[in-house]
Amino acid sequence: MTNTHPAIRVSEIFGPTIQGEGVLIGLPTIFVRTGGCDYRCSWCDSLHAVDNQFRHEWEMMSVGAVWKNVLALSGGRPLMVSLSGGNPAIQPLGALIDRGHGDGYRFALETQGSLARDWFARLDVLILSPKPPSSQMTTDWAAVEACLQAAHCKPQVVLKLIVFDERDYTYAKDAAAQFPQLPIYLQPGNHTPPHPTNDDAPVDLDGILKRMEWLVDSVTRDRWFEARVLPQLHVVLWGNKRAV
Ligand code: SF4
Repeated sequence: MTNTHPAIRVSEIFGPTIQGEGVLIGLPTIFVRTGGCDYRCSWCDSLHAVDNQFRHEWEMMSVGAVWKNVLALSGGRPLMVSLSGGNPAIQPLGALIDRGHGDGYRFALETQGSLARDWFARLDVLILSPKPPSSQMTTDWAAVEACLQAAHCKPQVVLKLIVFDERDYTYAKDAAAQFPQLPIYLQPGNHTPPHPTNDDAPVDLDGILKRMEWLVDSVTRDRWFEARVLPQLHVVLWGNKRAV
């Protein structure tokens, strides 16, 4: 492996643990969390990988160095690698995906869908997670569509929508109507997200589960049978703890 590929800005690499949400929930996974995001959601649960004040914790790493970490954590046993962030689409990840595929690993990437990359077509799973109104961000639907086009029908593509309230629920329904071909996963958001310097901050699990019940009621009331409602399993198990 040469070092001619551009370096990747990494916030943290950890695992193996299980994927806590969405289509791959429960699957043993190594996480490569990149640093930097073009969004700043009001309830972001990964500010340590978003906010520039944590930039000193991020490291520019070669593809070879990232891969060495993944191999060490997984003991060389091929498994799913989740590329998350921040927005991992900012980083040049194509060469990492190729490297991992050469060793039999699979790659999932989750992004809000603001930046399309041609290497999305080399992923195994692309999770598009546009952010609803409660995030206080504005979705560029043309950009989300561009991400889908960049995937060229090669990876499995799914939608994952975080829902806090009625407006978010309506947004999720609109998203599903725009992309009827994509499986859709809904999850109640964590309204008590970790503070980046204190991952022991308590989580209001009762509140989250109440909203999940409301979400299940809403989906069944509306006979929205294509939607799947899931919790964030890592929040249920470990609260706001980081890197688990
Ligand atoms: S897009 Fe994701 S990582 Fe970026 S600010 Fe929003 S929740 Fe945080």
